[in-house]
Amino acid sequence: MINEYQMRVLPHVAANEQALRQFVAQEHGFDVRTLTALRILKRSIDARQRTIYVNLKVRAYVNEMPQEDEYVRTEYPDVSNAPQVIVVGAGPGGLFAALRLIELGLRPVVVERGKDVHARKRDLALIAKTQQVDAESNYCFGEGGAGAYSDGKLYTRSKKRGSTEKILNVFCQHGASTRILSDAHPHIGTDKLPRVIENMRNTIVNSGGEVHFQTKMTQLLLRGDSVVGCLCEVCHDTEATNTVMELHGPVILATGHSARDVYRYLAASHIEIEAKGIAVGVRLEHPAELIDQIQYHSPKGRGKYLPAAEYSFVTQVEGRGVYSFCMCPGGFVIPAATDKEQVVVNGMSPSNRGGQWSNSGMVVELRADDVEGDDVLRVMRMQERLERDCWQQGNRRQTAPAQRMADFVNSRLSYDLPRSSYAPGLLSSPLHFWLPKGISRRLQEGFRTFGRQSHGFLTNEAVMIGVETRTSSPVRIVRDAATLMHVRLQGLFPCGEGAGYAGGIVSAGVDGERCAEQCAAYICQFS
Ligand SMILES: Cc1cc2nc3c(=O)[nH]c(=O)nc-3n(C[C@H](O)[C@H](O)[C@H](O)COP(=O)(O)OP(=O)(O)OC[C@H]3O[C@@H](n4cnc5c(N)ncnc54)[C@H](O)[C@@H]3O)c2cc1C
Repeated sequence: MINEYQMRVLPHVAANEQALRQFVAQEHGFDVRTLTALRILKRSIDARQRTIYVNLKVRAYVNEMPQEDEYVRTEYPDVSNAPQVIVVGAGPGGLFAALRLIELGLRPVVVERGKDVHARKRDLALIAKTQQVDAESNYCFGEGGAGAYSDGKLYTRSKKRGSTEKILNVFCQHGASTRILSDAHPHIGTDKLPRVIENMRNTIVNSGGEVHFQTKMTQLLLRGDSVVGCLCEVCHDTEATNTVMELHGPVILATGHSARDVYRYLAASHIEIEAKGIAVGVRLEHPAELIDQIQYHSPKGRGKYLPAAEYSFVTQVEGRGVYSFCMCPGGFVIPAATDKEQVVVNGMSPSNRGGQWSNSGMVVELRADDVEGDDVLRVMRMQERLERDCWQQGNRRQTAPAQRMADFVNSRLSYDLPRSSYAPGLLSSPLHFWLPKGISRRLQEGFRTFGRQSHGFLTNEAVMIGVETRTSSPVRIVRDAATLMHVRLQGLFPCGEGAGYAGGIVSAGVDGERCAEQCAAYICQFS
């Protein structure tokens, strides 16, 4: 007998397999010894009341063994001799595009400007040590893209449930915990992501595809209004020994939101792109214990059985959204710059979310029309100005300008700063004074609102760290809604976050798969 049950249990029951089996058997009137397996299908925490519950949907196997795998496997055929497609960028958009191409019988050739996911780690560690950022290998560039050393939160507002589940199943097939299939807010963790990404690369290579690191696309090859390939710069030991590689085939362009040289190249080549709105603000960091106490309504915090607490805030101030973004419970704030003379922050957390602090982006909606001019790169230029201001305020290093939260709301300089997870260090700075007025005024008002909604949230124990600007792409590479091809150039598929059509790991993955499907349909016309 196989039955599915919906239930609400206390956290200590949900955390203990034996206790949960006992609970299910008792509730549904069978002997626990006949329960051969119990699978959790959905898991979420209900923290609205003082007593916290875990909502579960389980599948109970009584006197029967499960026949199905815990996740759906995808078959990847040998595509060594198939027509090739160039995939530029090995972030989630590019990697999922490459895997889907293989499924569809095409051979992906992936070019990635940064290093492989393990070599990349050394360059990340050097940022805090040397205060220098490698422009080709950093938190945004390298195998796995901006998604590799990220939080690995996998929830998405995408309504395409089937596509989202496919992405999660492919992650499981490549080593992610099957827990991501049941959790309401699935999360892999920055410590587990590199291995998963490496396994995805191995699938591509073992199926006959190619992956080239330290290989940067510099130019598209055009024949009339068709893209027929691209030129890449292959980086060797010194700049003088760099070589050029020419690749032929349609191009899936999945270069992410930080490849500003790509946007400049497209604009200079008169390839249709448009300015797009983003969100701008700061990272806000509280002691994790304080967030746990607030969210779980208890001075004891989360106790032994609950995860580090999450929060989500949103309000409107003067006609623009002010909201929390990419919350990282028990995580740390990281330097996400991609070039010299920039300070820009983001957040991530390990799989156990066991850190001392919890952070989130606190951002204000910025529309393309809010930035003066008609230059298609104006929003990107504004990002650049802010990140440079931040670098200057932070002493021209990766030290980030920071201010205590209540001081900011009251327009007061912070005389000292609390301890923080941000490894390169913080410097007290009057953010209320030098952030653009439209941003700082709205953030002040937003924080007052959030403080009223959640007692204890607006506090000087929290620190704001500047600036958070890489919330999404400042540019849209305009594509046709049906074919996903560039509006003018045949054979060019702008993909993922950098193209302005996705935001987040899962939605970039979904977009990668869709671009691969449309690219396959395009190739089909010629065969
Ligand atoms: C620190 C951090 C934490 C984050 N946390 C989360 C999270 O928890 N959950 C979530 O959903 N999202 C998170 N995000 C956002 C998420 O990572 C992105 O939305 C996602 O990675 C976008 O995928 P993409 O493939 O479109 O682009 P990217 O991941 O940006 O990948 C683009 C790739 O293209 C490469 N590239 C760029 N230019 C070239 C070129 N000219 N030639 C060759 N290669 C090139 C880059 O090196 C990069 O590897 C986080 C981002 C950061 C920075």
